[in-house]
Amino acid sequence: MNYNKKSIEDIDVAGKRVLCRCDFNVPTKNGVITSDKRIVAAMPTIKYLVEHNAKVILCSHMGKPKGEFKPELSLKIVADRISELLGKEVIMAADVAGEDAKAKAAALKDGEVMLLENTRFEKGETKNDPALSKALASMADIFVNDAFGTAHRAHSSTAGVADYLPAVSGYLVQKEVSIMGKALSNPERPFVAILGGAKVSDKLNVINNLLEKVDTLIIGGGMAYTFLAAKGYSVGDSLLDAEKIDYCKEMMAKAESKGVKLLLPIDTVVAASFPNPIDGPIEVETVPADAIPDGKQGLDIGEKTRALFADAAKSAKTVVWNGPMGVFENPTLAKGTIAVAQALADSEAVTIVGGGDSAAACEQLGFADKITHISTGGGASLEFLEGLELPGIACLEDK
Ligand code: ADP
Ligand code: MG
Repeated sequence: MNYNKKSIEDIDVAGKRVLCRCDFNVPTKNGVITSDKRIVAAMPTIKYLVEHNAKVILCSHMGKPKGEFKPELSLKIVADRISELLGKEVIMAADVAGEDAKAKAAALKDGEVMLLENTRFEKGETKNDPALSKALASMADIFVNDAFGTAHRAHSSTAGVADYLPAVSGYLVQKEVSIMGKALSNPERPFVAILGGAKVSDKLNVINNLLEKVDTLIIGGGMAYTFLAAKGYSVGDSLLDAEKIDYCKEMMAKAESKGVKLLLPIDTVVAASFPNPIDGPIEVETVPADAIPDGKQGLDIGEKTRALFADAAKSAKTVVWNGPMGVFENPTLAKGTIAVAQALADSEAVTIVGGGDSAAACEQLGFADKITHISTGGGASLEFLEGLELPGIACLEDK
């Protein structure tokens, strides 16, 4: 896949109607935005468009309205927040690509900003219905995709609309694509990937692609136990994807034949049950990875593994990390994740973190500003690492 895509700086936006897909899928509680991080992340692109006299038509989805108008999922609160950040009125459309949106788009003056309603109020959105893509495109002259979080979806507002308009990336997508694209296609070596987390079967697929690229692959978190089982160890009640044991064996053989170092936990922190509540007190012990007792489950990497993984990360020039090393929500079980985050923070390497929970862990632990790039897209960054083509990026014009 070509990661060399045109950006807003490569196209003349002055006086043009620019439809800009953002990721405004913000968390809310009782009608109030609880984190405006995603809105803030879109501001550089919005500001650029305003300052360059575009007529700006913003759009996004929020939540899962499933093709119906749901007042509680209206983007009005997002329009208000953008207004505050921009110091300028943001005109709110009453629909996505209906009469109100069209009339307001047609009346926009240079430098004015409007926001369409939640794109998923339209049934056609998630089906990538050409009728909706055309209706969206009819309001604009240029399409800008700045929503990396939905770039792995081929929806009308993320990809379909690009069939009818010149399409370029915004700053956020540009940053994601250039940093992760370089890491995958032309990394400074040694290149180390660290995988963890709980979505074992989802993430096992990424391993096959990463083994083609990396010098060292580190596996911790919940997914490590399927590998330990593949080595013939008994894993007690740990997270296990029994159907993927053969696949793990294949991956271990592939690593060996490619000369890729595959690091698995050598010791693990176990408990009698999963913490409940997740951050409640828990009694743990550390055991060798090949001696997990029956009735116990592995919930974090042990001390020796922490040192092993951190050393490997420290000697790298490029590190990609996706997935916590343990149940980091619990302070007793966060040590493995902290050790890896610390190693990345201390390293001179290009460090890239993808995955919602890994990104949250970095922020929660205070390491975020010491990481080169924290991806804004969980699923999208994983598919990127898998080597899959992301429709929301593939549809953009090449440089
Ligand atoms: P990300 O969002 O970074 O892609 P995942 O969603 O795959 O990561 O996994 C994050 C979750 O994995 C966290 O909630 C964490 O508690 C859980 N987890 C990590 N290690 C284990 C383990 N050994 N057993 C059970 N759950 C785990
Ligand atoms: Mg997650």
